Amino acid sequence: MEQQKWSLSTYCVAPHVAGTRTLQGARLADFGGLSVPIHTSSTYKVESAEQGAVLASRKGWPELRKDGSVAKDEFFYSRWRNPTVAAVAAHLAALECAEGCLLFSTGMAAISTSVLSAVKARDHIISQSSVYGGTFHLFSHYLRESFGVEVTFVNVEDLNKVEEYVRPNTKVIYVESPSNPTLRLVNMEHIASVGKKHNILTIIDSTLATPINQQPLKMGIDVVVHSCTKFLSGHSDLTAGAVLSNSRDFLKQVLLLQQTLGSTLSPFDAFLLARGLKTLSLRVSHQNDAALKIARFLDSHPKVKLVHYPGLSSHKDFHLAQRQMPNGCGGLLSFELLGGREDGRKLIEHLQVINLAVSLGSVESLVEQAATMTHSQLSNEDLSEAGIDESLIRLSVGIENVDDLIEDLRQALEYI
Ligand SMILES: *Cc1c(COP(=O)(O)O)cnc(C)c1O
Repeated sequence: MEQQKWSLSTYCVAPHVAGTRTLQGARLADFGGLSVPIHTSSTYKVESAEQGAVLASRKGWPELRKDGSVAKDEFFYSRWRNPTVAAVAAHLAALECAEGCLLFSTGMAAISTSVLSAVKARDHIISQSSVYGGTFHLFSHYLRESFGVEVTFVNVEDLNKVEEYVRPNTKVIYVESPSNPTLRLVNMEHIASVGKKHNILTIIDSTLATPINQQPLKMGIDVVVHSCTKFLSGHSDLTAGAVLSNSRDFLKQVLLLQQTLGSTLSPFDAFLLARGLKTLSLRVSHQNDAALKIARFLDSHPKVKLVHYPGLSSHKDFHLAQRQMPNGCGGLLSFELLGGREDGRKLIEHLQVINLAVSLGSVESLVEQAATMTHSQLSNEDLSEAGIDESLIRLSVGIENVDDLIEDLRQALEYI
């Protein structure tokens, strides 16, 4: 059967074909089907005991063919590697213009496995302070308290002088851009240059941006992690995570730990992710435009105090956004009300089209109030330390008609 005639490297020098790349998933070499088949087998027949021994002992990075297809003799046991999962990983690698990609059962599995593979006891991590809640917990509790890893949390402003926090034992600089829920941006080129100068691995959580809006590896960042539960799958019907890098050595390290921890993605979920990826660029372009329109509407509304969206010229990181996120600033925004927490609660409970639910990046619009929902464990003091206003509402814009969404917000704002 003839293979697809494109190479990952050719695709990566032509950014204008992002839409094409989202469609050109890696293929399994069977029957020429346009969608990836679901291989449920947990084990694979080998040709001889000798081949079994070779596969069992293999520590190397599996050889993906350059055309993105998957060779039959790569498979041994599905916790290690599965054909459906490998094909979808190659697709995502092409989108992010990365040498390789590993897929995980959740975003947190991708984040914890990649960080754990890069540090040991007494090493030091510099982390942005406003990282995803699960990541914060991993760093501040497990790594610090259980594994003796030193962690310094640095706020977004101070990351501009990140070099001051570097110690001889610093192994990782970990950032999230845009950050959640206040949509602050980190200067990726600066972080990458400090990482390179001191030989420190730089990792970015690029979940909110997606490869359509931001390509951190091109800015010199070493490793990109994603929660594929969000925009990449896009339909609120699976959990998954990804680690991407141009360093095969690093990916090999992560793969070995993943094989031990066992946080692999199921073939069914990989299939759904592949299906979501096909429409990624359509969904994200729509969400970019719709979020900007909604941000402008909210910005001019008398009951709204402040809108956090890097596409607004009033946002602190507007100029950086123009440089780092040339295609758009994504489908997530947040806003504060002149009234407090109670007004926020009233607003979210009166929405009729927008769904009251956590998570983000779905085709359905989702809304939540940080202080009462995702960040309810934080005291008022912790909230203000994290720059989260008590009234702050986070809105993930879906693909509904944007005028209907604005109308929904307008009518709900009348209740406060
Ligand atoms: C959701 C999310 C995660 C965690 O991903 P899961 O798939 O829920 O494990 C990590 N980072 C960001 C920015 C997220 O939004």
